[in-house]
Amino acid sequence: MTVDVRTARHPFLDGKAKRMLIDGKWVEAASGKTFDTINPATGEVLAAVAEGDAEDIDRAVAAARRAFEGPWAKFKPYERQNLLLKLAALVEAHFDELAELDTLDMGAPIRRTKGGRQRALGMLRYYAGQATAIHGETIENSLPGEYVSFTLKEPVGVVGAIIPWNGPLGATIWKLGPALATGCTVVLKPAEEAPLTPLRMGELCLQAGVPPGVVNIVPGYGETAGAALARHAGVDKVAFTGSHLTGQKVVEASAGNLKRLSLELGGKSPDVVFADADLEAAAPGAGMAVFANSGQICSAGTRLFVERRIYDEFTERVAAYGRSLRVGDGSDPQTEVGPLVSEAQLERVTGYLATGRQEGARPLSGGERLTEGALASGYFVPPTVFADVRDTMRIAQEEIFGPVISAIPFTDIEEVIRRANATTFGLGSGVWTRDVGKAHRLARAIRAGSVWINCYQAMDPAMPFGGYKMSGYGREGGKQHVEEYLNVKAVWIRTA
Ligand code: NAD
Repeated sequence: MTVDVRTARHPFLDGKAKRMLIDGKWVEAASGKTFDTINPATGEVLAAVAEGDAEDIDRAVAAARRAFEGPWAKFKPYERQNLLLKLAALVEAHFDELAELDTLDMGAPIRRTKGGRQRALGMLRYYAGQATAIHGETIENSLPGEYVSFTLKEPVGVVGAIIPWNGPLGATIWKLGPALATGCTVVLKPAEEAPLTPLRMGELCLQAGVPPGVVNIVPGYGETAGAALARHAGVDKVAFTGSHLTGQKVVEASAGNLKRLSLELGGKSPDVVFADADLEAAAPGAGMAVFANSGQICSAGTRLFVERRIYDEFTERVAAYGRSLRVGDGSDPQTEVGPLVSEAQLERVTGYLATGRQEGARPLSGGERLTEGALASGYFVPPTVFADVRDTMRIAQEEIFGPVISAIPFTDIEEVIRRANATTFGLGSGVWTRDVGKAHRLARAIRAGSVWINCYQAMDPAMPFGGYKMSGYGREGGKQHVEEYLNVKAVWIRTA
């Protein structure tokens, strides 16, 4: 069924307050409190949502522990695989509805959220495949006497999953997929700005037959529900996606029981354009490396290094591309750039636009909030390209998380490698060149978890994604992701 998202009529938005999922049941917050989630394109309230806090996290962690130690522990890999395949079939059947919910709750253009179909289904089916591919090793030892030594892989236990708002469906699948594949149980804390799709995914999990307590979903604020989950002694691992500042708090909170962590954090990724590149492809490529999702992508290529002899021409091309993009309500199928997620995010991004100008950067496109007509009630910032940016400016150092490119000229390859790496982050990176030698050199020299050459943001469920340096540790996607949810046990048997 296709839903008219422009009028916010959506089957999930039935006017009732959304409850949280604990132990297979939809319940109110223990405090009875709710918070509103709003449509950032219009400022309208979409739904009231149960506001979880420490008490609800306690209830959910207890349910997850019971489930982990209960019948779920006896599920065979094939049965977990089957559950993931059923969940994938349900997500496929309801995909448009899920995409529309993402668009309503966090603003991304509907053509972007609907375009994520293959990726969402591919991820779930990839994890389904991984469920039957978990194995230890038999390892030859050199002990005198006769010993057999081998390893077992076991689920780490109760996982606290904390996600941001910039891709709620994808983030939910990235947390639930490996947990279900490995036999862990989960307490998922969605972002307060966009809790609706994770809650709808909770319904689909139950429909797929996920046993009570295996998946719990507790919406609420970061400082309350999130912090309670991060410090909870009953949680064995936290899988966190969000900003590096919150990531640092999660690390501190984890110390109480030394829980395992994986951290997918922010970035200030370099995107390097050499004069020998296919500039026809590189201009929109470098533009969308930042303008997609209104720049609210952790690995956005926001530091655009352009070889000096093409700097003026190329930056103008990217700015022209930015000006050509249609900004508007994400639920309009023509929209290419939607609103920012919230008023707070709008203030943050417009603050950086002012800082950029004060520091002496020159906006070639955008640079101001849009307030004309229907855009007035939403949080709209147009694609912005700042020229004359120096490495030391704040707009070249700090993550803005908006559609803002800081364009910086460079002269030679050694210099650009050094400057590309002169950041505390290391998440994504891009290189545009026709010279295969340069491509290989940069692929090795850039200190970041992903290097995209003559493309940007290519992703596949089988490929790992994650950070170097302050962009975090651990990987999501690929075999490495599943390993993050497993413990390795060494078993020794003396046979004589
Ligand atoms: P955020 O760090 O403010 O919030 C992320 C999540 O953490 C939310 O659910 C929030 O409620 C929770 N939280 C907040 N304070 C907490 C605390 N003290 N303890 C525990 N949890 C807490 O980030 P955001 O603004 O929602 O998202 C944007 C950030 O996320 C950006 O920095 C972006 O780069 C990053 N991000 C990274 C990836 C990745 O895969 N590397 C993906 C998406 C977003």
